[in-house]
Amino acid sequence: MQDTMSVTVIGLGYVGIVTAACLSSRGILVYCHDINPEKLSAIRNGVSPIYEPGLEDLLRNAVMNGRLRVVEDPAEGISRSSYTIITVGTPSLSDGSADLSQVFSAAETIGKCLRSLNQRHVVVLRSTVPPGTTIGPFMNILESFSGKKCGLDFGLCFNPEFLREGSAVEDTLNPDRIVIGCIDQKSGEELLSLYRALHQEQLPPVIMTTPTSAELIKYANNAFLAMKISFINMISRLCEKLPGGNVDEVAAGIGADKRIGPYFLKAGLGWGGSCFPKDLRALRRIFLEAGLKPHLIDATIEINDGQVEWVCRLLERELSTLSGKRIAILGAAFKEFTDDVRESQAIRLANRLLNSGASISIFDPAATINVSKVLDGKVDIAKSIDECLENADAAVIATPWPVFRSLTPEKLREKMKGKIIIDARRIIDPKLFESSEFRLLILGSYMESRRE
Ligand code: NAD
Repeated sequence: MQDTMSVTVIGLGYVGIVTAACLSSRGILVYCHDINPEKLSAIRNGVSPIYEPGLEDLLRNAVMNGRLRVVEDPAEGISRSSYTIITVGTPSLSDGSADLSQVFSAAETIGKCLRSLNQRHVVVLRSTVPPGTTIGPFMNILESFSGKKCGLDFGLCFNPEFLREGSAVEDTLNPDRIVIGCIDQKSGEELLSLYRALHQEQLPPVIMTTPTSAELIKYANNAFLAMKISFINMISRLCEKLPGGNVDEVAAGIGADKRIGPYFLKAGLGWGGSCFPKDLRALRRIFLEAGLKPHLIDATIEINDGQVEWVCRLLERELSTLSGKRIAILGAAFKEFTDDVRESQAIRLANRLLNSGASISIFDPAATINVSKVLDGKVDIAKSIDECLENADAAVIATPWPVFRSLTPEKLREKMKGKIIIDARRIIDPKLFESSEFRLLILGSYMESRRE
């Protein structure tokens, strides 16, 4: 028996749980499934398995009023809903290409459920996958396990996700646009009616296209955004050498040009996270397999890798050596307002400094548990900014959490041994440090050479 407007979400990571909570907040009944039993039991109790602003409240309400239901058996959800949305992970394989095993295993599960289903169902693939996956292996698995014909017996769309961690709820409820790559018009219209229910009068622009173009839109989108950041980081290095140089002013100047736009022009330690690094690697592989050179992708990655090295060299220059020095790293998440440390530049910086013989204390307002999973035993994980700064020879702001803006010479003087502060996220007001004994080095601002 099918409920009116109802959806099953398979894969409750950063994307899946936000999608589920947002859909149910607009009155849509959502069945949630994941292979991780711990996640299921947390969600069943209304507890979010991740930190994401606004999510916990949405989730608790949705569970309490019965609009978000956890199912251990995906068939329980699929048999009662009109759509299945797949939001499982697509990490990197060792050659850089996307590991599609989670997607294929979900397709197998859904295919088996479709076999005994008597009503129409639309399968929506939302995980990021290489062009050709939806109408190729993904559709083949669905058809062979269901014994049914795609298009005729069930609908299929690739529907890329563009949310940003840290503002994922806001992005899901108010996206810039919706891209629907549908195998036929009927499937596309069916998915559109779900979005009409979600956004009602505020439906954003909808781009209907083929699944293959939609798959490429997602990769090209991420590569372009990462390229903008790497571009401004390239300019940032030049600003450091030019008296009066200030990369924020350059970014504001070029960003005011409508053809460029102001977003993703914040210079700093570089991009990381669960998407840009793996998606750029995957797109690079796709180019190579097509016999094409991924020039701009290579340069984008090279500049980004270089940012961590850039900060290490700066520290080495200022401290004469890294060996035996105590470095406080403020921030571990790949960006502010998330607890996600996957491919975080802050974590890479910590590992790089450890390799050079430094000892590390690290503090993040939200990511302590995840930091302990990736760096445990190798660094001191501090519970506060003060604890992190204790006896440090130098401090680096590695994630732009607003709380780090409150650092002042008075606060640092109380705790630190050394006088070197590197603001690798450009969040500190340099005026506060003007007449202090601290040497504040801001990535992307002119750096006077060291006075001996
Ligand atoms: P994630 O790794 O946080 O979560 C994936 C979840 O899927 C996990 O909870 C895992 O247990 C579950 N899972 C794996 N195989 C399963 C199966 N067969 N059945 C049921 N559950 C299964 O991933 P994520 O960060 O949420 O990303 C999901 C997809 O969305 C990826 O393709 C990613 O590239 C894309 N995406 C992510 C973001 C982001 O900001 N995280 C943004 C846009 C797009």
